[in-house]
Amino acid sequence: MTTFADLGLRPELLKAVAEQGYTEPTPIQVQAIPLVLAGRDVMGGAQTGTGKTAGFALPLLQRFAQHANTSVSPARHPVRALILAPTRELAAQVEESVRAYAKYTGLRSTVVFGGVPMEPQTAELRRGVEILVATPGRLLDHVQQRTLNLGQVEIFVLDEADRMLDMGFIPDVKRIIALLIGRKQNLLFSATLTDEIRILAKSFLKDPVAVQVALRIAAAELVTHVVHPVTRERKRELLVHLVKSRALKQVLVFVATRIGANRLAYQLNREGVHATAIHGDRTQVERMQALEDFKAGRVGVLVATDVAARGLDIEELPHVLNFDLPNSPEDYVHRIGRTGRAGTAGTAISLVCPAEHERLAEIEKTIRIRMPREVVPGFGHASEAPLMEPPRRQQRRAADEDRLTHARRREQATKPQPGKPQPAADPIFSRPYEPGLAAPAPQGANPGAPAKRERQVAALLGGFVRKPT
Ligand code: AMP
Repeated sequence: MTTFADLGLRPELLKAVAEQGYTEPTPIQVQAIPLVLAGRDVMGGAQTGTGKTAGFALPLLQRFAQHANTSVSPARHPVRALILAPTRELAAQVEESVRAYAKYTGLRSTVVFGGVPMEPQTAELRRGVEILVATPGRLLDHVQQRTLNLGQVEIFVLDEADRMLDMGFIPDVKRIIALLIGRKQNLLFSATLTDEIRILAKSFLKDPVAVQVALRIAAAELVTHVVHPVTRERKRELLVHLVKSRALKQVLVFVATRIGANRLAYQLNREGVHATAIHGDRTQVERMQALEDFKAGRVGVLVATDVAARGLDIEELPHVLNFDLPNSPEDYVHRIGRTGRAGTAGTAISLVCPAEHERLAEIEKTIRIRMPREVVPGFGHASEAPLMEPPRRQQRRAADEDRLTHARRREQATKPQPGKPQPAADPIFSRPYEPGLAAPAPQGANPGAPAKRERQVAALLGGFVRKPT
């Protein structure tokens, strides 16, 4: 088995990788890292979820580690690597990964994308960064305003080339490539290597090595996760509201205890939602009957405990709803493993009250997904505010940044963003909590702004696939 150390990575990078919890390199990493370290151009057939970001980011950081310095002079921090991503969400995710991997190298990174003011980005660029992640449109805006010099870029990465193509960004990409006069190495990643992509690759890659991985890190069952913050007292009301207003059918609802399961099923029935409970206290016959009724659509909601749900033979369940979050992240993974099977779209809805915030953080850490928070109008409450905050890692990062950046964040946090739908809940919830993760801007608004896109992930433990749209 190849280890990260076998790939010849520096201790600073090994430390960061270990901190991320990666125990061994993924196939794309095993293939790409040595090639990038050797300075080769690479055409990678790999989709998001394969670990491709570390596949190019780690060797790229290693190649520039010698240039790390603590000088305050921007001239000592020229952009040496440019990574282009098609949407702001992806750009933000890539930069977050780069930042995590670069943590001990002393190299700086930042991200620029459209749909947000340019000035804070300009300020970051003026300080100087070695690695820049960008969407094409906003990058060109910066070039035009002369807030960015790409003359010293040595490594160019075109990420998600197929989506770039789909979104009509190739002319912009070509204009950008023409500006990279010091370019020495080029990497292209694409979920599919179609003829069109190969032609594009040929236009700027030099003698590339093609590497391809078909499989993602984990099984490809796809689930969309969503968190609805709510107080404990109003969870039942919210569940009823969701089932009725969205006409949800076949919802497997998980609760913490047998008593809770019984009570909830009883109360749901009283409120006009046809529900039944399945748990260890019921006889085998009763359990089978409940399951039969559920499968046949005679009851829309099956309330279950984790133990009772094990071994349930239900396929292609559209919705799993966590009324109570499970105690362990593994149980979360088991629960959601019941939906999104066989390529069908599944949703995993979690009703999260303040007492469960820590548990949610644990789950997110384990599955490496920041689940989108959506306050259901009418169910917002000030006590849920911490849940809407940026993830801890980003909070820590924010603390590390200088005062200027802090002031900018605060200013942004209080400013409504144009074009962004504002939920009809308490104003505190309409605050954008993080550019890359906030509600997406309307489609086609700006080349740098992403099309609306649901976060989709693999359902099994260790699966953290974001489905390319
Ligand atoms: P990517 O395909 O680069 O978007 O990566 C998908 C997810 O895999 C990210 O959440 C990474 O943190 C994670 N990841 C990347 N490399 C590894 C690894 N070697 N082991 C486990 N997880 C990884």
